[in-house]
Amino acid sequence: MKTQDYIDLENQYGANNYAPLDVVITKGEGVWVEDAEGNRYMDCLSAYSAVNQGHCHPKIMATMQEQMQKLTLTSRAFRNDQLGLFYKELCELTNSHKVLPMNSGAEAVESAIKVVRKWGYTVKGVPKDKAEIIVCDNNFHGRTIAIVGFSSDYDSRNGFGPFPQGFKSIPYGDAQALKAAITPNTVAFLVEPIQGEAGVNIPPDGYLKEIREICTENNVMLVLDEIQTGLGRTGKLLAEEHEGIEADLTLIGKALSGGFYPVSAVLSNKEVMDVLNPGEHGSTFGGNPLAAAIARTSLKVLIDEGMIENAAEMGERFMAGLKMIEKPYIKEVRGKGLMIAVEFRPKAGGAKKYVKKLAKKGLLCKETHANTIRFAPPLVIKKEEVDWALKVITEVLV
Ligand SMILES: *Cc1c(COP(=O)(O)O)cnc(C)c1O
Repeated sequence: MKTQDYIDLENQYGANNYAPLDVVITKGEGVWVEDAEGNRYMDCLSAYSAVNQGHCHPKIMATMQEQMQKLTLTSRAFRNDQLGLFYKELCELTNSHKVLPMNSGAEAVESAIKVVRKWGYTVKGVPKDKAEIIVCDNNFHGRTIAIVGFSSDYDSRNGFGPFPQGFKSIPYGDAQALKAAITPNTVAFLVEPIQGEAGVNIPPDGYLKEIREICTENNVMLVLDEIQTGLGRTGKLLAEEHEGIEADLTLIGKALSGGFYPVSAVLSNKEVMDVLNPGEHGSTFGGNPLAAAIARTSLKVLIDEGMIENAAEMGERFMAGLKMIEKPYIKEVRGKGLMIAVEFRPKAGGAKKYVKKLAKKGLLCKETHANTIRFAPPLVIKKEEVDWALKVITEVLV
């Protein structure tokens, strides 16, 4: 089968909820992928940061192969020999007390919403059904009904109501707005350290510190959604480290899987997670031994192979190179680590045409909203590969 045959099949039988580039990928290794005709591309999206460790990382693959021959799923009705080790290693690495394992990012977000609400009622003393959670404009936390209900993105919400109540949205990056929005019934502030899907929106310096202080002063749980920013993407294990803070709850997913098998987690302090009792929350696949084993190795290779430091170093090189491309229609180059965006002025006529030209030259990336391209290659990218990407991007953005 050729590229067009695969595309025709998808179009005929698949839901139409994505608008992918017409590249059909059949293989991947590290930062490189190959299409049905054998053309090679550099992957500068990394499956929205789910393959930070690079495609088909050999050690994660070996773990998966080994574990899948022994045991894959027990359900949480029984215990398995991987889950406890996964908890321990994850807690030690992230300085957390308790872990709740789930599968997708959206499920981790939903789980956090449930536990902070329960904490609000049982510990903080919020009256029944009055718990409020503050979120930010232009957030992206996933696609469930509750989550899209507090999204400010028209396409995400429109046509999917009615939505659950209890969410209040404030401008991103504005600590004073948080202060003003908090009431005695506020249980949590849910926020991304950098807004990824909104176009790599970086808050002002000091924002994370300020919101940490405001939450502490008001007995409000700070929930950081690090599903995209976490696990090395920004040049630190967690983006919260850039300002030396610690969230009360941290959500991770995406690269926890190494790209192999969906796995997410809510990392929490003891006080909040301990409000959950048997029967109050769960997931058939959450905490399964295959996911736990894969996640353990996905974390291990991030650390052992220096991917986080590499993200910081290569990110600087990548961004410095992009900043040298001075064109009147480029509005801004911004980023942290290997989470980088180029924003075009509206007069450039949209980012999509550059994305298509880049693909023709062997570099895969994706626009986010109309005028921004995100560059987020796997964290294993090498100096020469960054330079190659910069050469291609410079040629296309002439
Ligand atoms: C991708 C993402 C999610 C949702 O993760 P899924 O696995 O797609 O459900 C939530 N929050 C952020 C910040 C994300 O980038």
